[in-house]
Amino acid sequence: MKKNFTSETLKKMKYELDNTTEKERGFVLCKRHDGLITYGKSHIGNIGEVKNGAFFQKVRVRNKCDKNEDFIGDYHTHTNKSDASIADLTSAFVYDVLRCVGSKPDNINCFRRKAETRDMSEEENVEHEYKEVLSKIRKINTMYKSNKISKEDANKLKHKLINAATSKLRAKFNIFKL
Ligand SMILES: [Zn+2]
Repeated sequence: MKKNFTSETLKKMKYELDNTTEKERGFVLCKRHDGLITYGKSHIGNIGEVKNGAFFQKVRVRNKCDKNEDFIGDYHTHTNKSDASIADLTSAFVYDVLRCVGSKPDNINCFRRKAETRDMSEEENVEHEYKEVLSKIRKINTMYKSNKISKEDANKLKHKLINAATSKLRAKFNIFKL
């Protein structure tokens, strides 16, 4: 996988990670004519744009590759050591894009939906499961706010829920370390 990226792109990924403080950073990934992956000409900005834009990022950033290159995905950094989030993976799956995530201090992983999952039309299931997780989290928050459970228990429950859903989702991806 690493050999598919231009060395400038790999350097830029590392640079953005090294320079990530309180805001996430990132850029789109584009495939050149020679098959190598390069970076889009403009940044896709700060934490709000990257995070909240996860589901429509594909549309928003598509035009930022050069005319003779193909948009194939994106890269963004996390401000801590957490790997790809459930939202990162869900949208990468649904839109079938390459998603690379850099986490502190020096860990860059790329996620690509496994080829065999393309035959099964699983996008709806994956999106549905993500929405289920969100709705369960809302329920847990309500229970906590109405003092039915402690903050500690609420966090434990959310953690367990997100971890289970994320590992299930990760199994649908090929994961490459850069
Ligand atoms: Zn992320």
